Amino acid sequence: MSSGWLVPLSVAFGIFVGAGVVLVIYVAARRGHRAAAVVASTVPDGVDQVIDVLESAGVVLDGSNNVIKASPGAMAAGLVWNQALVHPELVKLVDSVRRTGEPRSQEVQLPRGPFGDAMMHLFVRVARLGTRYVLLLAEDRTESYRLEEVRRDFVANISHELKTPIGAVSLLAEALESASDDPEQVRRFAKRLSKESERLVGITQEIIELSRLQAGEALAKPELVDIDRVLSTAIDQNHVAADAEQISLLRGGDKHAQVYGDQAMLVMAIHNLIANAIQYSPARSRVGIGVSESDGVVEISVTDQGIGIPEDEVDRVFERFFRVDPARSRNTGGSGLGLAIVKHVVQNHGGDIRVWSQPGSGSTFTVRLPEASHATAQLGAKE
Ligand code: ADP
Repeated sequence: MSSGWLVPLSVAFGIFVGAGVVLVIYVAARRGHRAAAVVASTVPDGVDQVIDVLESAGVVLDGSNNVIKASPGAMAAGLVWNQALVHPELVKLVDSVRRTGEPRSQEVQLPRGPFGDAMMHLFVRVARLGTRYVLLLAEDRTESYRLEEVRRDFVANISHELKTPIGAVSLLAEALESASDDPEQVRRFAKRLSKESERLVGITQEIIELSRLQAGEALAKPELVDIDRVLSTAIDQNHVAADAEQISLLRGGDKHAQVYGDQAMLVMAIHNLIANAIQYSPARSRVGIGVSESDGVVEISVTDQGIGIPEDEVDRVFERFFRVDPARSRNTGGSGLGLAIVKHVVQNHGGDIRVWSQPGSGSTFTVRLPEASHATAQLGAKE
């Protein structure tokens, strides 16, 4: 074969192949364009953009329940997987709206995502979008449900806590009445009566404190607070209880550390820690109260040689109304709110609290707070 016509042949072949490729690209482009046009012509104008900026979950489905548009919120909530709705409950809702044409709203509880086991509460609204599409909007109400549950638990716990001393007060009043001829009995019942009413006052006060702290009202006007003074006051308030058990309160030297905050709140927090240390320790043991300061952090620790806290309960002691031994705690007048208050005070001051404990050996509660001069220096640096 001569090579004279080989060159024009390969040129012609090249042109043919090139034209084919161009044709394929053109057809593909036309198809793509048509697909986009179909969506654009049926989904009402602006829906795309609305779904894009929607903070909550929004999904648009076509006639075969394919998801053709989903907001970032819908993806984050795990409503969509493989271009379809994950939860059969939602598919059912979409089908019924498509059938009847009537919009529907419903509260549903669903697992988060296709593999998740955490549940979420959604308020779902479904409506037709044009003739072919269905729009599903879902509002995540999990957090408000959780808060409502916490509030219900709190109210139930409060009622339970108040019932015991109130019951005791009414029983003692009856006993007092029937023992009115016996002065010795009257004195005994009267003494118990005043103990129960003191307890009622204590619980009520703690509930009020805790609500104030949770509402974040406490630190409206932070002032410079001297930590040495906080410790002295809190220790003084606990001397009588300690002396009654011959427990020595040992205090380290002054450190002249200051924090910004509310002196009364901080005294209450440290008071609670020392009161617990005394309450959960044997007679004639020692409670140490120390303060140290380094790198802008003030550390206050309260250490006892008491009964300690079992390892699996240590994380729970800051929960409201939690007690390791409810009977013992109630006998000593504990409300189970003391450490919840401490935790809130510390958090409101921008600090944290940790606990180390070993049953039989004792416990150390350590509060860490940002030191005032350091906080000011940092504020200055930012300006
Ligand atoms: P309470 O009023 O019952 O003392 P708190 O909130 O102060 O409530 O403490 C919760 C629980 O944590 C207590 O009931 C007790 O079981 C445990 N606890 C707190 N402080 C100590 C401590 N220093 N040593 C051992 N157990 C403690």
